[in-house]
Amino acid sequence: MEDFVNINTDYIMKIVHSQNPLAKKCADFGMIDIIKKKRFFIKIDFQELNKKQYKKILRKLLFIKSILNNKTEIGIDENGKRILGYLINYDKNNNDHREFIDGISAIFYPTRYERYNYIYDTVCDYLDNNFYGKKLCDFQNNKCVGKRNTSSNVGCCRHFKTKILGPLSQLVVCEHLNMENYTCEAKCISCKLFTCDYLEKKGIKFKMKDILLLNTFFNPLQKYFIKYMVFTPKEKIMKILMWL
Ligand code: SF4
Ligand code: SF4
Repeated sequence: MEDFVNINTDYIMKIVHSQNPLAKKCADFGMIDIIKKKRFFIKIDFQELNKKQYKKILRKLLFIKSILNNKTEIGIDENGKRILGYLINYDKNNNDHREFIDGISAIFYPTRYERYNYIYDTVCDYLDNNFYGKKLCDFQNNKCVGKRNTSSNVGCCRHFKTKILGPLSQLVVCEHLNMENYTCEAKCISCKLFTCDYLEKKGIKFKMKDILLLNTFFNPLQKYFIKYMVFTPKEKIMKILMWL
């Protein structure tokens, strides 16, 4: 069994037993401790953590990381690997644990752009795994479950477009939909978060507050744009997020 979890290309977290002598010595992280000892090293015991604390802890870690100067050493070297800290009672099959580790990965990207890019892609993968993996929209002959009795053969990838002549607006297929394989070429996170009335009635809805990475690392205005910038390519959404 692997005894570590990759955080990113630079760091790993080592999985240890709670009785590990080094883990016993290592205090739970506290800002003062870390700055005084001039070393950033964290110990996370999932048995002592409540899911409700995840956001607060990740935000605290992000803050600590932001005020570290180059005199503070991050992690320790062991057999050529840079260990950022210890994980205790970690279960790789537990989604909550995985989400928390994704949060730590986000913190340790060197720039804000790289962090946002990682969060964006990770959340898109998560939503794709749900929509495609679990076939939530259940497309059959190009008709999704929500529009089975309508003429739409592109699900909800349509929007109204204002016309100069004729009727004021017209329903058109989204310009980002690849009509050969019916996939989205825009990687629009706002569209991926959307669920129609039909799915919502079935209890399927993705709320920002339930997705730890979005809930933790974005401010209310950024969240507003993530929710409402439908029909928009990733690059444009990333620009807005960086700007806010
Ligand atoms: S969200 Fe609803 S309307 Fe949109 S593709 Fe899925 S089932 Fe169809
Ligand atoms: S941007 Fe939105 S509406 Fe357009 S193809 Fe992609 S998912 Fe569909």
